[in-house]
Amino acid sequence: MIELDSYVFGSWVKGEGKKSVLVNPTNGEPVATASTEGLDFAKVMSFARAAGAGLRSRTFRERGEMLRAMSRSLHAHRDELIGLAIVNGGNTRGDAKFDIDGASGTLAAYADLAAELGDARILPDGDGVALGRSARLFGMHVLVPREGVAVHINAFNFPAWGLAEKAAVAILAGVPVVTKPATSTALVSHRIVKLFVDAAILPTGALSFLAGSAGSLLDHVTGQDVLAFTGSSDTGVLLRSGKSALAHSVRVNVEADSLNAAVLGPDVDDGSDVMNLFIGDVARDMTQKTGQKCTAIRRVYVPSEKVDAVLDRMKERLAAVKVGDPSREDVTMGPLATPSQKRDVRAGIARLESCATRVFGDPDRPELLGGDPEKGAFIPPVLLLCQQPSAGDAVHSFEVFGPVATVVPYDGTAGQAAELVRAGLGGLVSSVYSDDKTFVRDVVLGIAPFHGRVTIGSSKVAAQALPPGMVLPQLVHGGPGRAGGGEELGGRRGLSFYMQRVALQGDRALLEAITGSPTAKGQ
Ligand code: NAP
Repeated sequence: MIELDSYVFGSWVKGEGKKSVLVNPTNGEPVATASTEGLDFAKVMSFARAAGAGLRSRTFRERGEMLRAMSRSLHAHRDELIGLAIVNGGNTRGDAKFDIDGASGTLAAYADLAAELGDARILPDGDGVALGRSARLFGMHVLVPREGVAVHINAFNFPAWGLAEKAAVAILAGVPVVTKPATSTALVSHRIVKLFVDAAILPTGALSFLAGSAGSLLDHVTGQDVLAFTGSSDTGVLLRSGKSALAHSVRVNVEADSLNAAVLGPDVDDGSDVMNLFIGDVARDMTQKTGQKCTAIRRVYVPSEKVDAVLDRMKERLAAVKVGDPSREDVTMGPLATPSQKRDVRAGIARLESCATRVFGDPDRPELLGGDPEKGAFIPPVLLLCQQPSAGDAVHSFEVFGPVATVVPYDGTAGQAAELVRAGLGGLVSSVYSDDKTFVRDVVLGIAPFHGRVTIGSSKVAAQALPPGMVLPQLVHGGPGRAGGGEELGGRRGLSFYMQRVALQGDRALLEAITGSPTAKGQ
């Protein structure tokens, strides 16, 4: 069995003491162990912090070249990584590609941005402004890299993309990274970091990696460090309120739970392109990565008179899903990532049944194509119907992190649709499917303050629409309230989390000499 080591102080170090065991969720067999016990976490942070100078001395273009090399390295080892994701994550090949190609794609997108930013090391933030009687006395804002460490703590569902999307932005900003994947699925992340280290892509210390618990790492964050966390709300609250984080005003970004919604407009006819798009998006989100996507649609709002038609279409789609051993080509949905997720998802479905009725799928009796029915973490797709929705019921307040969604009828008005979506109290992404401009405008503007992203599916874009569950490097990812209040990616916007915005005022010529004329666009 593989013993995962951590990459710290520029070398691979094995943990001591009792190890966490990573399992294959298809059969419950152990595949690796991990431990960070015995690591000197203060030294992990100080070593990484010292490496920042090496990144900051490079230009955006040079940092982008590193990101390009990281992206290529992932692509070159794609098949190997897919194999590991099948074994340790229960991913089908398609699921694994979604994670791994998402990782290499995001690194490549930030490499492209780096080329645009060019040979600068700092970024202008908006236009400068004349402050005095003449144009000489001038003010401007610039972003400079923070001189600390970017601590990245990730969830179990995207061991490749989670690592890469955060690291791409931090490294481009000039900030070294200490990354910690969720222990249960760390095999893929471990291999990725090994690839980067073996290829000597980054300066030593620019990327450290912890295989196992975060230990006392967060006791050593200080004022120039930042913490970006993805995971459950409960852990988010804990980390946000850590003593050192609070004492040093550490910047914290939290990406947490989300009850993402899809709204079908009253104008959408059965059999239309928009209806097909809607059904396809909901079915994909329920089953891709076995529903373990933070962006997956959990609530499906349908005008009352269309509910029967939608349920028929959904049942037809879900009946075609083949659950089982994800290494088999005929399997389209693998197990959940861990046995404990299976317990949680079963309990979560029972909780949803307090206000909804199960209309498809029996969580206790999945029909399997291979895999161990007892030791494997299998759950079939489960669809529920909530006839009498109310804010605060389980459908509107509880995320079941698996292949589970609930159809909720509404009266066909934009007002009620928006009100119900808003009852999720903050989400990463929700989507509206309609060609009715007034309906779309009223729903979109009604739910926008509660979301990081809203997608609109209409007939004009149905053929080229990107699924709402796909996070794009160009657009922000995050959301208010329940979703953690965070914001990542969004192209250049993502850099500002890792950089200090500072206002400079004085003689314009001097300011431009200091900053390399950052008032000029694109510097
Ligand atoms: P989790 O239990 O909160 O764990 C997330 C990460 O936090 C793991 O790396 C975990 O490490 C670490 N962690 C736990 N306790 C910690 C502590 N006291 N100090 C430092 N680190 C600690 O969440 P999860 O079960 O992995 O992920 C599922 C949740 O993540 C879902 O609710 C989902 O909605 C959310 N999620 C959100 C997004 C988003 O972008 N918004 C994306 C994906 C997932 P160990 O594994 O070592 O315990």
